[in-house]
Amino acid sequence: MTEQWIYMNGDFVTREQATVSVFDHGYLYGDGIFEGIRAYDGCVFKLKEHLVRLYESAKSIMLHIPLSIEEMENAVVETLKRNHLQSAYIRLVVSRGAGDLGLDPNLCHEANVIIIAERLKLFPAELYEKGLKVVTVATRRNPADTLNPKIKSLNYLNSILARLEAEQAGASEALILNHEGYVCEGSGDNVFIVKNGTVITPPTYLGALEGITRNTIIEICHHLGIPCEEKPFTRHDVYVADEVFLTGTAAEVIPVIEVDRRVIGQGVPGGMTKRLTEEFRKLTTVTGTFIDESVSSLAGN
Ligand code: PMP
Repeated sequence: MTEQWIYMNGDFVTREQATVSVFDHGYLYGDGIFEGIRAYDGCVFKLKEHLVRLYESAKSIMLHIPLSIEEMENAVVETLKRNHLQSAYIRLVVSRGAGDLGLDPNLCHEANVIIIAERLKLFPAELYEKGLKVVTVATRRNPADTLNPKIKSLNYLNSILARLEAEQAGASEALILNHEGYVCEGSGDNVFIVKNGTVITPPTYLGALEGITRNTIIEICHHLGIPCEEKPFTRHDVYVADEVFLTGTAAEVIPVIEVDRRVIGQGVPGGMTKRLTEEFRKLTTVTGTFIDESVSSLAGN
């Protein structure tokens, strides 16, 4: 196996050298942010959109990223080049950096910026052919006035608790509601229902991450003239939907065929889900930052 090079604060280091301090507040307190990004055949899908979300998360938690957005874009591309990857899963992490054992973020003087790129472990084809079983969990989404779910922070306990509950119930993914009982999203993906030809997803103000895949599906619907709405819905609406699917960077579009033991539609991935999956895949290699065309300021590093 060839060496994996990891971007760490301006340098490329080996996997073994890629370590951070135990005093990093990312480790001690989940104080940091991240992005999961994907490259397809030399195209980093919607890299700019991911970086806007990253920098907005940083602004919200008052975390200074010591790179401009353009420098970060170059760093991502350079990490792929270094690892000779045209298709990959990319994990970008910015943590508050090392401080002392107290909470005070002002004592963390330098953020740690890490970019890991590796070959994507593809989800089993069966997942897309058969669809997923999901369950609603008791763990609710953090309300926006606690830890706003729009911030893609390193604090994923809320999602992890939801995932544990789903696994204990024999399901592969959790459906998470907000504190009012409206459907929000999955533990690491957004949710859509299809009813009478209309594609519906919850508005992010209910408490969901503004997923890049989610937004792309909305754009595709608008482009193709498929009715698409962002509006609140409940578990009941999910149970009686014609189709349900989840969206996320790693898994793209995943059909859901059962929710809380209610069979969705015919119990097989639906036509709209398949159509949107195909349209989404067409865009992945043409929308984003192209590895070979981008001029890197890190060349020779
Ligand atoms: N919601 C949550 C909680 C997530 O972690 C993710 C994955 N990043 C998503 C939704 C999907 O977002 P995206 O399409 O940008 O990957």
